[in-house]
Amino acid sequence: MQEIYYDNSATTQVCQEALAAATLAMTSEYGNPSSVHGRGAAAFRLLNSARTTLARAMGVPAEELYFTSCGTESNNTAVYGAALSGGKRAKRLLISSIEHPSVEQAAKYLMNKGFSLEFIPVDRQGVLDLGALRQQLNEEVALVSVMHVNNETGTIQPLRQVGAAVRELAPEAVFHVDAVQSFARLPLELKAWQADACTISGHKIHAPKGVAALWLRGACRVQSLLRGGGQEKNFRSGTENMPGILALSAAAEEACTKMEQNERQISAVRKRLLAGLQAELPDLRINSPDNAAAHILNISFLGARSEVLLHYLEQSQLYVSSGSACTSKSSKGSHVLEAMQLPPDVVDSALRFSFSRFNTLEEAERAVSIIVQAVQEIRCIMGRNKKKR
Ligand code: PLP
Repeated sequence: MQEIYYDNSATTQVCQEALAAATLAMTSEYGNPSSVHGRGAAAFRLLNSARTTLARAMGVPAEELYFTSCGTESNNTAVYGAALSGGKRAKRLLISSIEHPSVEQAAKYLMNKGFSLEFIPVDRQGVLDLGALRQQLNEEVALVSVMHVNNETGTIQPLRQVGAAVRELAPEAVFHVDAVQSFARLPLELKAWQADACTISGHKIHAPKGVAALWLRGACRVQSLLRGGGQEKNFRSGTENMPGILALSAAAEEACTKMEQNERQISAVRKRLLAGLQAELPDLRINSPDNAAAHILNISFLGARSEVLLHYLEQSQLYVSSGSACTSKSSKGSHVLEAMQLPPDVVDSALRFSFSRFNTLEEAERAVSIIVQAVQEIRCIMGRNKKKR
């Protein structure tokens, strides 16, 4: 039995390009970019070249890009850094109600430090309520953080309108975009969004875990959190993770140059899976909007609890996720689906399928029969149990 991996929003398989780049940095080019001898200088050149490549893929100037250890660190840095840098009056933090915990928990922590936190509501599709945002914005806002693509549903946020509202009504606020789930899958339009800061993460785009980046617009004020040897222009001390950084830049270049081609492949897989499931299980409920990012599909199979279904599927080596991977080990329901005001039975039976360019149409067909059989068996058992009671 061959595995089918539909959990690419949790993490991805490392691609050959990233593996080769990491291997280079761990073997022949193992220098520390801060060393003043030749080996250090060679590493420094590789670091600069990786930064230039990644910056090009993100559409930002290389000197505004900082490497970090993970998306969580980049998000924490943006939230804490923006809050610390705001003026005396700027004590309000605005984040969407469906942000990743690495934004939400960082902002919540600041509530004990003299900041107030307000959530921007979303509608039933998970799209930000722009009217509510406009009412919440004023000059006391230090930070607005809104993700590009939601990690549970694939909902794409109207960032042009968000950015325009921020610039009009809270011009001093830092506008941060968490693009962990969109980078290398959809174009980043940081200029058009009028964003100040943006997070991306390596292991979501076929680079290894433990490397990420934070872009900060030149004029944007965000204080650094790590102090020490002064790496990353004194913004993020710590010896650079050269294998990770070279791998991230190689993976980004590969994914971004083939973005449209990959998107077509992923859309075809999504379409085939969805059509097959709808034909056999017409009562399924799609929680992702029609115009969601192609690589994330959230579906509820009413009557089949997501944890039970997930483990059923696992027996056939079909790997999916219930809610986001980072929170799915907690017993709490998805805060994203709850913010979308979906009923409890829909939330309890929601599964996330997330695709990569390595998924095939043949897999999608196999996945349909595995899922249909599992849902029917679980419903049958649940029905019998109900009758017994
Ligand atoms: N932001 C989003 C939207 C995510 O989906 C994730 C991880 O799932 C993160 C941030 C955190 O990234 P990392 O796992 O690199 O810390």
